[in-house]
Amino acid sequence: MKKIQMVDLKGQYSGIKDVVNPSIQEVIETTAFINGPKVHEFQKNLEEYLGVKHVIPCANGTDALQIAMMGLGLKPGDEVITADFTFAATVEVIALLNLTPVLVDVNEDDFNINIQAVKNAITPRTKAIVPVHLFGQCANMEAIMDIAKEHDLFVIEDNAQAIGANYTFENGKKVKAGTIGDIGATSFFPSKNLGCYGDGGAIFTNNDELAKTVRGIVNHGMYVRYHHDVVGVNSRLDSIQAAVLDAKLPNLDSYNKARQNAAKKYNAAFAGNEKIIIPIISKSCEVMCDNCDCHVFHQYTLKVKAVDRDALAAHLNEKGIPCGVYYPIPLHKQKAYADDRYNEADFEVTNRLVKEVISLPMHTELDNEQIEYITSTVLKFVNG
Ligand SMILES: *Cc1c(COP(=O)(O)O)cnc(C)c1O
Repeated sequence: MKKIQMVDLKGQYSGIKDVVNPSIQEVIETTAFINGPKVHEFQKNLEEYLGVKHVIPCANGTDALQIAMMGLGLKPGDEVITADFTFAATVEVIALLNLTPVLVDVNEDDFNINIQAVKNAITPRTKAIVPVHLFGQCANMEAIMDIAKEHDLFVIEDNAQAIGANYTFENGKKVKAGTIGDIGATSFFPSKNLGCYGDGGAIFTNNDELAKTVRGIVNHGMYVRYHHDVVGVNSRLDSIQAAVLDAKLPNLDSYNKARQNAAKKYNAAFAGNEKIIIPIISKSCEVMCDNCDCHVFHQYTLKVKAVDRDALAAHLNEKGIPCGVYYPIPLHKQKAYADDRYNEADFEVTNRLVKEVISLPMHTELDNEQIEYITSTVLKFVNG
């Protein structure tokens, strides 16, 4: 059996070497390292893939979130609601801009931001909601867009984990994750569903005015060369990373499909076990049909009941199976983001999830033999 990895970037690379290598070589030969034609080509191709008017590439996903908030003109003291159960980057940029983070609880079943908790957190100072499409499937965007409309709030989608996922509205309209709110942010960190070979990120919007503002912000607040109209940042996707991404983009759907196939096999093996709760597919697509495109499994995350999660993780590691706990500490309990305003009773779900979740290896190169070994090792431990 091939050695099991949490993410197998080497295996994926060997399948696309013939496309990626010449694409990188071309950038080196032309020396157009910054803002070269490859960046523009990738931007156009991603706009087409996502069905969004504007993609603005930038240096990483954290910058993408920060720049999105700067572009919307959020001001110190504005309250921004986001999920307690996510990667810290989401709340970090809110705090960095001197906005006021308002962390709220998530759903027990799909791990995404809880709609009632969002409603309860709204005050006259609330200016934006940041849903995170955690582990590869969209938050309840139908409800979030309704709340935003009612209270005149911006919606910034953290789409770092769900690129390529679809969201279906009740009226049947299907849209790509990250293109639903006022603005979306994504990451091309190597292990993400569309990853480059270094750091990278992008911002999405259908709003022409906002796109123009953001294009200036990523480039030192310049709209005309050496005229600095607003305080900006230096956040660029370099041409070599764009070359990698442009070579990989045509494979994104098949990569996501490979992740879904692995998830299906995991699900089949664990189905019916009372101590293991398999990940659910949320309401926009209740069954994982053959053409299911609403969950792209950035992570395959189980909840374990009446099982010592940390002992299971240690056992898997011993058996040569890497695994992860995303995330082990609720953000409201992190030193940097703790606040007297928070009440533990409001974080009942997150406080429980951090003890129960475990993510198994998930990538495009998992084979049947590996999945069989992983599932039987997990089941043996859980069943005792
Ligand atoms: C990866 C990630 C980010 C940050 O992306 P970087 O490119 O690493 O800066 C932000 N939010 C979430 C939910 C992520 O998973």
